Amino acid sequence: MLTLVFATNNNFKVTEVRNLIEAHLNRKGLSAAIEIIGLADAGCHEELPETSDTLEDNASQKAFFVYRNFSKNCFADDTGLEIEALNGRPGVLSARYAGEDKNFENNIRKVLQELHDIPDRRARFRTVISLVIDEKETRFEGIVNGRIITSPRGSMGFGYDPVFLPDGYDKTFAEMTLEEKNKISHRAMAIRKMIEYLNENIVGSRQSAVSSL
Ligand code: IMP
Repeated sequence: MLTLVFATNNNFKVTEVRNLIEAHLNRKGLSAAIEIIGLADAGCHEELPETSDTLEDNASQKAFFVYRNFSKNCFADDTGLEIEALNGRPGVLSARYAGEDKNFENNIRKVLQELHDIPDRRARFRTVISLVIDEKETRFEGIVNGRIITSPRGSMGFGYDPVFLPDGYDKTFAEMTLEEKNKISHRAMAIRKMIEYLNENIVGSRQSAVSSL
């Protein structure tokens, strides 16, 4: 069994990612191969440092913080909403876009104000995952393209979900069930890449029972 700490304080993401990983592992018959635990279970009750100016560096900073301070293999993700007409903003500033209190509604309001009267609504969510196992880092990226609608729709999800309409769908992320969102989301894509990597490079070598799968 490989135990990985998911280095996040966001409970929405823990639920989302745990569901996703379990579903994927179940499909492959590997449900006993990897266990995901939260920060509290790893003994970490503090705010993670997130002071870099790229998603890549922030993800690495969080993962190595947990690895070095708590001696646990782990992964961390960092996500940004990158809006074309705003030159990629809010990007790495997504959580605190309208202020330090990280208020989702205020962030959405600010984005909608900035896009007022701008016809180009193209945007993407981009997630970078940093996985640190035995000191070695590997990164994974997931991107979903879409557009920002003019007023919020839906009550599920979190963050900018109510104003993000993924390409090819007529529902915002906040109008989708977790299962629907997990099929196409940026974080799901990055997580899937990480699971493939773990299957191919880590789990098999640690657990001979799954090497035939
Ligand atoms: P984090 O790096 O995953 O914590 O994401 C930073 C910020 O991006 C969050 O506080 C949200 O505002 C936004 N965000 C990240 N993932 C999502 C998502 O799946 N839907 C909507 N907003 C998101």
